Amino acid sequence: MGLTDITTRLAKAEADAGRAPGSVTLIAVSKVQPNERVRHVLEQGHRSYGENKVQEAAGKWPDFRADFDGIDLHLIGPLQTNKARQAVSLFDAIHSVDRPKLARTLARLAQEEGRCPDLFIQVNTGEEDQKAGVMPADADAFVKECRDLELPVRGLMCIPPVDEEPALHFALLAKIAARNGLQGLSMGMSSDFERAVALGATHVRVGSAIFGERVPE
Ligand SMILES: *Cc1c(COP(=O)(O)O)cnc(C)c1O
Repeated sequence: MGLTDITTRLAKAEADAGRAPGSVTLIAVSKVQPNERVRHVLEQGHRSYGENKVQEAAGKWPDFRADFDGIDLHLIGPLQTNKARQAVSLFDAIHSVDRPKLARTLARLAQEEGRCPDLFIQVNTGEEDQKAGVMPADADAFVKECRDLELPVRGLMCIPPVDEEPALHFALLAKIAARNGLQGLSMGMSSDFERAVALGATHVRVGSAIFGERVPE
């Protein structure tokens, strides 16, 4: 538990998988965590963070950015089109691109702003009704659509169903990425990040194992 423990476990998972040291980005998921816990991890030198709500991120990260250099901020939750402009200015990466309307909006904003965060396409590997993401069968066409819009698609992201073996979902995501020539794989959380690294994750999203249990809202 805590940053040091998780970075140690991540380094071991990289070595066990024959991956280069530092090849996996540890995104510390700071959503809902009290600011003093986040500041503590910033003071330990960690720089990659994840938030799942634009509004919440806008309320705290500009201040942290003023105090700490080199912060790399990732949006890992659903993005409404009407918050896309704010997301583009706030985040370095967006992991939840999941529909044509959002892709078109991001492409327009990228033109206007002259910059675009790194993008990951979310795939609903478990085909769950309540979950965001493109269906696996539609993923290839959507990747192409985003590329035709000249969006900087870096990889794919998934959140496996809670009651299923995550490795099956990680393997499916890796397969879809490989056949589309995508390098990035955003997969794995507190309970399963080592398995995700074994299956090729380039970005793991770890919250409670670093910061402690989320304080209920
Ligand atoms: C909250 C969240 C995480 C981190 O979950 P933990 O179980 O606390 O590690 C990872 N990914 C997404 C998309 C999340 O919303």
